[in-house]
Amino acid sequence: MKSSEIIDTGNKYVMNTYGRLSLALVRGSGARVWDAEGREYLDFVSGLAVNSLGHCHPAVVKAIVAQAETLIHVSNMYHIEPQVRLAALLVENTCADRVFFCNSGAEANEGAIKLARKYGKSKGNLEKFEIITAINSFHGRTLATITATGQPKYQKGFEPLPAGFSYVNINNIEEIRERAGSNTCAIILEPIQGEGGVNELNPEYIKAIKDICKEHDILLIFDEVQCGLGRTGKFMGYQHYGIEPDIFTLAKALGGGFPIGAMLAKEDIASSFSPGDHASTFGGNPLASAAALAAVEEILNGGLVDNSSKVGEYFKKQLIEMKESSDIIIDVRGKGLMLGMEFSVECRKLLPACQEKGLLINCVGDKTLRFLPPLIITEADVDKALDIVREAIRENL
Ligand SMILES: *Cc1c(COP(=O)(O)O)cnc(C)c1O
Repeated sequence: MKSSEIIDTGNKYVMNTYGRLSLALVRGSGARVWDAEGREYLDFVSGLAVNSLGHCHPAVVKAIVAQAETLIHVSNMYHIEPQVRLAALLVENTCADRVFFCNSGAEANEGAIKLARKYGKSKGNLEKFEIITAINSFHGRTLATITATGQPKYQKGFEPLPAGFSYVNINNIEEIRERAGSNTCAIILEPIQGEGGVNELNPEYIKAIKDICKEHDILLIFDEVQCGLGRTGKFMGYQHYGIEPDIFTLAKALGGGFPIGAMLAKEDIASSFSPGDHASTFGGNPLASAAALAAVEEILNGGLVDNSSKVGEYFKKQLIEMKESSDIIIDVRGKGLMLGMEFSVECRKLLPACQEKGLLINCVGDKTLRFLPPLIITEADVDKALDIVREAIRENL
């Protein structure tokens, strides 16, 4: 199909839930993707922080092909070899003791919410179900996770929402201290808010939250769906803060592009779930687990976390220099290869402008560009991307 046919057919038959750009990608390799007419794009979106290894990484392709020829799916009524190996790998490299597998970030967070409520009730207080989340957070699109998401635009029209959620501003210790109490079962935070504008948490804030959690027996849930797996220059986002969450969730980059999510917890919390309490037909199936096993091994052993930290630092330095010589760039935020650049003016028109010049980038809100290149990105490709961004700013803002 030609690009125009793909776009027209999609516009006619696919439900209209995405503000899609006028672009259809048909092939990818490394940090580059191509449309049906062979036009090449440097990909600084990475399928929204999914393609951390770059497109069609040989290790992931090989694992998928081999597993597809062996066993694609069996039920979780049986033990699954690639799944148990993936679980062991994740546990051995993080603070968690056990893993539940699902298919997406929203599902992973649903699982975390259910586990936290089960754990809260197990403390003998049937009112211990309240969950505190952050304003400008993003946790997914199911009913519970849009409710956990502290942005009214994602909730509007879907009421009534599940009860028991309340919202606080990040980095305000007083506010969360007042809000938390004996009926709070969990606090959910992203180590760095992604969708909400690449907003970082202060280390002092996280330390204070750990104390608050201890005082009221509250679980700290980290949504690592975007930050986890090397994106921020450490294997997990929580490692920047010198603390360990009780529960954390993964998805996005976990399968190297194949859909899979995971909810991980410490033993004493995971043990609140008994057989029958939670389940997923596809969660951690052989094919998804084999893809994820290859992807996570590559992230851990292929030097990707170091590259994310090193090239991320270089990238951020360039962005800060751009800010210092600009009247309209007002802030640069983020860690590793999860970076945001905020403008004093609307910057959405930079997306089609950069696309025209062969660069895919993304925008959060109307005024912040978000950069999520694959973790294999080189400094030379960062230079290339920034040349395009500078030119697009000069011509459009
Ligand atoms: C993308 C994202 C989600 C939702 O993941 P889906 O796979 O789209 O359900 C949840 N939390 C964070 C932090 C995310 O970035």
